[in-house]
Amino acid sequence: MNLENIKKVDPEVAEQIELELKRQQDNIELIASENFTSEAVMEACGSILTNKYAEGKPNKRYYNGCEHIDVIESIAQKRACELFGMDHANVQPHSGAQANMAVFMATMKPGDRVLSMDLSNGGHLSHGSPVNFSGLYFDVKSYGINEYGEIDYENVRQMALEHKPKLIICGASNYSKIIDFKKFKEIADEVGALLLADIAHIAGLVAAGVHPSPAPYCDFVTTTTHKSLRGPRGGIIMCKEEFAAAIDKAVFPGLQGGPLEHIIAGKAVALLEASKPEFKEYAQQIVKNAKALAQGLMDEGMDIVGGMTENHLMTLDLRKTGKTGKDMANVLEKVGITANKNTVPNDPQSPFVTSGIRLGTPAVTTRGFKEEDMVEVAKIIASAVFSSDNELGLKNLRERSLKLCEKHPLYD
Ligand SMILES: *Cc1c(COP(=O)(O)O)cnc(C)c1O
Repeated sequence: MNLENIKKVDPEVAEQIELELKRQQDNIELIASENFTSEAVMEACGSILTNKYAEGKPNKRYYNGCEHIDVIESIAQKRACELFGMDHANVQPHSGAQANMAVFMATMKPGDRVLSMDLSNGGHLSHGSPVNFSGLYFDVKSYGINEYGEIDYENVRQMALEHKPKLIICGASNYSKIIDFKKFKEIADEVGALLLADIAHIAGLVAAGVHPSPAPYCDFVTTTTHKSLRGPRGGIIMCKEEFAAAIDKAVFPGLQGGPLEHIIAGKAVALLEASKPEFKEYAQQIVKNAKALAQGLMDEGMDIVGGMTENHLMTLDLRKTGKTGKDMANVLEKVGITANKNTVPNDPQSPFVTSGIRLGTPAVTTRGFKEEDMVEVAKIIASAVFSSDNELGLKNLRERSLKLCEKHPLYD
């Protein structure tokens, strides 16, 4: 990584970037929403494209001098449409939450009704949490998951029939099973609702054909680009042609000003990478690694919400160990494993404490971890949970996790 100029101009920030690089290199990253993007993507994001104002859309800008920007943004749009099989793409959303916000703005008036997955059951803040704009300005009804960690589609249907939502959202931040987009479409059609699939977490799996695609069934597909898709931090909205104008208008001038064209170039590069055969292999390995981790944890006597995972993530259920998610996430940090606390269904603890830990494999798979490495990770996690107050034991586990990191170097 070239930090030559920052080091000269701002050694204080340069030092922290170097330390952060070392943290990424020396720790096992199991936060399910994180990944390590390619150096090609980072070059695009760090390029001179950051200098350009380009309000509007390709070939319809409010500023002059956009001829190269227009080509880059058009390439990104075309690649998104091709990769995910949708008619139209807007690649300007600064984040996944803003992509969702634009769909709300394009389809509803304040007070209109939405049916989406509850946050504590695995949904996302931007799907209608009371502390988010989506819950403040819209009338939100939410569905959850059952004791098997699965969406109860008949329950979703009953709720849709009862509440007649204008928009139904499927897609989650913490759901370990395959989402049946066809069933959601049948429910949406039965009640005359529009359907949004938010594939922020599983976009890489969908792109590679490892998870079924929402494209045949959904009016709108939103995603982040920085999770399993492995691009720069940002969002994309895709939709059927009939909603293209409304979506574009909602993004700009509705919600955003000038698009981040350097990030859009990074999205274009990431979308190209995601269309390659190597990426298909990568996405397949993400799922193999998640299954190996889940099996390894269960073999060590730990519980996983819903049992075996079908995608890239799982939630460790700590209830029977008597430990909390908050404490164990801190213990894992001590042994060089980064993960986040998460609620489990019917969690007796508050959302700030929780009884679960969410674990995901996109990031470690990028650095080359394979099934046997995941079995070792499972052993380290189980030992850390069961002997969390044995400092010497934890030190030993830290050495084992560092060994795995050294076996699979990152950005070297
Ligand atoms: C991560 C995520 C988002 C939000 O992405 P940001 O870029 O953090 O705004 C939206 N929806 C789902 C399902 C997510 O998992």
